Amino acid sequence: MKLETQCIHAGSAPDSATNSRAIPIYRTAAFQFNNTEHAANLFALKELGNIYSRLMNPTQDALEQRVAALEGGAAALALASGTAAIFNSINNICQAGDEIVSADNLYGGTFTMFNDILPKFGIKTNFVDPNVPENFASAITPNTKALFCETLSNPACDIADIEAISDIAKAHGIPLIVDATFTTPVLQRSIDFGANIVVNSLTKWMGGSGTGIGGIVIDSGKFNWKGDKFPLMNEPESSYHGVRWAHDLPDMLAPVAYAIRMRVIPLRNLGACISPDNAWIFAQGLETLPLRMQKHCENAKAVAEYLKDNKQVEWVRFPGLPDDPSHALNEKYLSGLGGPMVVFGIKGGLEAGKSFIEGVSMFSHLANVGDAKSLAIHPATTTHSQLTPDQQGDAGISPELVRLSVGIEHIDDIIEDIDKGLAAAK
Ligand SMILES: *Cc1c(COP(=O)(O)O)cnc(C)c1O
Repeated sequence: MKLETQCIHAGSAPDSATNSRAIPIYRTAAFQFNNTEHAANLFALKELGNIYSRLMNPTQDALEQRVAALEGGAAALALASGTAAIFNSINNICQAGDEIVSADNLYGGTFTMFNDILPKFGIKTNFVDPNVPENFASAITPNTKALFCETLSNPACDIADIEAISDIAKAHGIPLIVDATFTTPVLQRSIDFGANIVVNSLTKWMGGSGTGIGGIVIDSGKFNWKGDKFPLMNEPESSYHGVRWAHDLPDMLAPVAYAIRMRVIPLRNLGACISPDNAWIFAQGLETLPLRMQKHCENAKAVAEYLKDNKQVEWVRFPGLPDDPSHALNEKYLSGLGGPMVVFGIKGGLEAGKSFIEGVSMFSHLANVGDAKSLAIHPATTTHSQLTPDQQGDAGISPELVRLSVGIEHIDDIIEDIDKGLAAAK
């Protein structure tokens, strides 16, 4: 099936119990066992099935099948938030003493997780400028267990050269984990370019209407976890019958050892599960993702072109503009569509940035992206305000930067509202 078809049909056979055509919401905490043998088999992984909704739920399963198909992955695991998805993608393979190498132009929350929280668990992050892929190679040490970057960075709008970074990961026998929130599988199937693990905040474009919080991790099923570098995948698991994930699973499950471990170790024991209601919201939202992404990108391009010619605007970042630093990668990684985000620098710095935000009325001023509605924020005083000025600089955030998540309203109304903001900032 093509992607547009998968968005609607993957993971959605009519419900076997009721023939319901739409995906049902299974609002239950637990599932009754047929008998004691059935219960024992489920717990021993001899048989797959539902036990308790912290571990899996049929509504969640439908969402996971759909997203795994869209990303071209072998399995997926949905979690309570994009943040939980990122945390679990790391802690599934890293323990105290381990390191990762990460891009430095990250979503503010991810930067804080890597810079301030993971070190408290003994996991160190070496940050690099991802726009020079060789930087990843220079920062790898014998303790490095993964490389991490965003496909299209939040908010700087840098496109990562995933293929080049994945070549470096391959040469060192470590996986590349990418956060594909800003691209979604509609703009880029990162696994096709060599990513081993893909994470997404479902909260954003995948859901598409700002109605729930969720995240998902997709396992490509292509990484070979066997070997001393990954003790969590190779040594007997003390909390799970001594299973060695990279060795002991039946053939059918062996390729998705990473996804299975994440479900039965971090998800089961740390508990960041998605609710069935939110899983349903995201599975539903995905049905219109290709149409929405097309429109988001089309409107973003029109906004970028409009701002570029405005005298009050110092600079614009949108990979679809011919002189954008990421333009060369736009064709290969974003199908030439430029993405759904526009960031720009307004003349007059911090004060003008704030006045712009005060001046718009249709744009919602809030800390989210990927809604059908147009959204605006001033990162230096909000999402990235915990960062030092140097860290803000590394993340591509200057005081005058305004971030626009361009919605799917009529472009004339979007431009009219931007004009109001610019007038207020004069
Ligand atoms: C929002 C966002 C996250 C975090 O997702 P939540 O669902 O809010 O936890 C991670 N990465 C990127 C790029 C994001 O935009």
